[in-house]
Amino acid sequence: MRDNFDLLVIGGGIVGAAVFRRACELGLRALLLEQGALGGRATEASFGIFHGGLPYLFSFPETALLCAGEAAHLLRSRGARMRMRRQTFLRLLYQSEGRGILRSEALLAAYDRLAPLRSAGPHLRLSREEALAEERGLMCEGLLGALRFEEWALDAGDFARALIEEGLAFGGRALAGTRVCALVPAPGGASEARCTDQDGAPRAFQARAVVNAAGAWSAQIAGMAGGRKPSFSLLRETYLVLPGHPARSALLFQGPAGKHIGLIPHGADCRLGPLSAEHAGAPDVNRGTFQEGELLRASLRAVLPGLAMRGSPRTVAAVRALPGPRPWRVIDHSREGARNLITVVCGDIPFYRPAAEEALNAALRKLGRPAVFEAAPQRKALLERAVRAGGRPLCAALAALSRMGSFIRPKNKVFPVKPR
Ligand SMILES: Cc1cc2nc3c(=O)[nH]c(=O)nc-3n(C[C@H](O)[C@H](O)[C@H](O)COP(=O)(O)OP(=O)(O)OC[C@H]3O[C@@H](n4cnc5c(N)ncnc54)[C@H](O)[C@@H]3O)c2cc1C
Repeated sequence: MRDNFDLLVIGGGIVGAAVFRRACELGLRALLLEQGALGGRATEASFGIFHGGLPYLFSFPETALLCAGEAAHLLRSRGARMRMRRQTFLRLLYQSEGRGILRSEALLAAYDRLAPLRSAGPHLRLSREEALAEERGLMCEGLLGALRFEEWALDAGDFARALIEEGLAFGGRALAGTRVCALVPAPGGASEARCTDQDGAPRAFQARAVVNAAGAWSAQIAGMAGGRKPSFSLLRETYLVLPGHPARSALLFQGPAGKHIGLIPHGADCRLGPLSAEHAGAPDVNRGTFQEGELLRASLRAVLPGLAMRGSPRTVAAVRALPGPRPWRVIDHSREGARNLITVVCGDIPFYRPAAEEALNAALRKLGRPAVFEAAPQRKALLERAVRAGGRPLCAALAALSRMGSFIRPKNKVFPVKPR
């Protein structure tokens, strides 16, 4: 068995899978090692929303534009598009939210400007009656209406596995259940990954370049090689898995402490959450607490009071790495003595491709090969196109804010539906 490789990829989530797939396509002898099942940890646990930048719109508009550009890119790829589904969201508006309502529609008005990039329609404002007609079980008291908008969604774990399959078809090799325990220098300038396989037996693999795509574990991997621990925060996210689809659309509503909670279809089930909290320590969590489960149930009962929850739904927890204001980070550890190691950390699914390409470019340079992904100019062009298509989202948001005085008048419980 051949145990020497050009490139070793640690982590079988969406980022590692994309690096592996592209490396194999370029003809590199690549090996992917995953300690658990292929498909990743945060990736498998994710809600799978391939958003077009909505979470970034106010604070980081350029990141939002980039995100919309990535959605446009993925939708152009026939293979990827087949794995994506349109997901309609109803953002429920209750009187208790006060000014939060204003902010939500302002954001969606700005988001509309990017909708053509995502092949989505503009958002719609639903009156209370229309919202109730759409979701019959909604809590009536305090309901003002809803905002309907579209996103794209995918099963991110399946998507990552499909990328790995493509890499295998190009001649790569991937091992699940194989945990990297040490990264040490090897003869000839290579690095050796010392691992345990699924039976606990020791294995060793050598490669001339290593991409650490271990998500929330990437600081541990960097530490193994003597590299600087990449600085990012860890967020523990907890959700409930409910059987079936209790609502027609995905629902978004204000939950505990004013945070948004989603009830989002995922395969045959629905995911309700998340509850988010900063996480310290090892990221090996997979269960939420009883209290978290109860909090989520209570928040759902507040909007769907008649919903009968049979049995005890599973409470899942997973840790995601957030690289800060930048949506992804690629770190070359050569200055710290770990000369073959590249770390890539990515905070959202839509950035998996630019993150993977930048990491692979860095790995190619270590292999003495030219970088092949024209990341910067391509992204600049995308941004320019997005700006042309969408204008300045912040301006649109401000314009929407000024148009929407009627929303916050307390007597105006039924607001008009404006054709857009
Ligand atoms: C609950 C939840 C919901 C989310 N929902 C969304 C969403 O709807 N939309 C969105 O854009 N983003 C979402 N995210 C974020 C998104 O899932 C992540 O940004 C993305 O999946 C990160 O992918 P990754 O490949 O970097 O990490 P991961 O999928 O975690 O992959 C890293 C892999 O490395 C492996 N690994 C670690 N250490 C080792 C080792 N020593 N040896 C071998 N393998 C190792 C791990 O087992 C893991 O499988 C969500 C995250 C969570 C937790």
